[in-house]
Amino acid sequence: MSKKMYGELHVEKMSESRRKSRVCLIYTGGTIGMVESDSSVSGSPRLRPATLVELMKAVPKLGKKEGIELGMVSFTRPVDSSDVLAKHWIEIGKAIEEHYEEFDGFVVLHGTDTMAFTASGLSFILNNLDKPVVITGSQLPIAHPRTDALANLTSAIYIAGHEAVGLPLIPEVVLCFADLILRGNRATKVSSAQWQGFESPNFPPLGRIGEHIKIRKDLCMSPNRRKFFVDKTLAGDVKVIPVNPGTTPQQLERDLKTTGIDGVILQTYGTGNMQTSPEFIETIWEAAKGGEDYDRRIPILNVTQCLEGTVEMGLYEASSGLLEAGVISGLDLTHEAAYGKIVWAIAKFKDSENLRNQLQFNQRGEQSENLHELSWRPEESTQAGAGDHIFASGKNIPGGFVSEDLKSAHIRIQKLKVEILDKSKAHSVRIFINNPNADEESSINEVNAVCEFVEGELSELGNIVRDATKVAETVINANNPVSVKLVAVNAKIYCRSIILSLYTAAN
Ligand code: ASP
Repeated sequence: MSKKMYGELHVEKMSESRRKSRVCLIYTGGTIGMVESDSSVSGSPRLRPATLVELMKAVPKLGKKEGIELGMVSFTRPVDSSDVLAKHWIEIGKAIEEHYEEFDGFVVLHGTDTMAFTASGLSFILNNLDKPVVITGSQLPIAHPRTDALANLTSAIYIAGHEAVGLPLIPEVVLCFADLILRGNRATKVSSAQWQGFESPNFPPLGRIGEHIKIRKDLCMSPNRRKFFVDKTLAGDVKVIPVNPGTTPQQLERDLKTTGIDGVILQTYGTGNMQTSPEFIETIWEAAKGGEDYDRRIPILNVTQCLEGTVEMGLYEASSGLLEAGVISGLDLTHEAAYGKIVWAIAKFKDSENLRNQLQFNQRGEQSENLHELSWRPEESTQAGAGDHIFASGKNIPGGFVSEDLKSAHIRIQKLKVEILDKSKAHSVRIFINNPNADEESSINEVNAVCEFVEGELSELGNIVRDATKVAETVINANNPVSVKLVAVNAKIYCRSIILSLYTAAN
């Protein structure tokens, strides 16, 4: 086994006058690099991974004509992408780092099976990119008469060597396949047979490939001019737990108690839902809060099993328990991006509260929104008088909250109980944000008032969720701590927790 995971750099040189761009190909294996083996030896044609030299022969004519000089490095032993592990992302990252200054862009040739995982992983570990990193592969081997490899590879080389062919710079990790240029950490494999094997269901393509290559510059990231570097440590043991109709609390407990586990991706239904019975929630609660049987808090990232849409814990009863237990929202991450993000973030952010926040913030364009979450437990709220109000005192909003980017806000009160003092008199409960002085006289029409529950509604209360977008837009800003006040009129109130979720656009 060679010390280096990838081989030496081979460069197809052009004269200075003709060269306009330099692109480095990094060959990792996959169907794209398969060639027919010698049939006279084996008796029947077989496919085998091409050597670097063989692959170079099949490739270079493409870019040369356009003034693109190609260099190529290869894994010492090209692999089926099923064998690509997170540690290989680091090897690819190191190859990019080593040759970063020599080239204008990079093309990673990769098997399709785990291509979206590698694209996601690379997007997190590569910091301050100002050059394209294009990952591609093919459904048929490069040697096959009907191969899609040549078209995919040519397009990828064009995108990486953009300047020579007059294309705009895409300074991020992209996945280029058939007609589409997708943000790498938004892509997911949708077909093992169609030419168009990938889609990015929650984000538009960055570009389309047809007679012309059309790139949506408005969607692409801006180049980051700070020094490029690669994060070289990733968490080793992240467990993926899909829930299904047969999942039992015992199974879940067994999975969560796996020794040495660094984190969990919980694959849930719809908007982040799963079985509601208390055994499930208690099991999750124990792991997420680091209960007796755990030596620390296990980060649990909630990702939807749906191809499209976002996790919104607390919308249904079937997810409010998870929210309260401290499960982290994976918003609209693909499962590939969720995996790349969590193994990267666990290694990078050591403090559990910070890790939670960083996982809920957009890092590399992998999700459509940031989630800034504020939560209060009862011990953090002061109950005065006869429990006629609950005050959740001022907390700073985590992350770089920008009021102008606010898209929506939701307030969730868990287990809100109301004891009416005198049924013959008017009674109600009102919720205010950033109005510590709110009292029985404070009107529901004030700008800080979120909502009011009156008379008959009070007996119905339990876990409630209300839209607080209008109020948040008016009274919340990054510089001031946020407080919540619940005021009861002619009643005593109690609640188990208050959670305010502020969603901002991920720019
Ligand atoms: N099993 C192959 C791989 O992922 C499939 C492909 O490349 O399309 O390496």
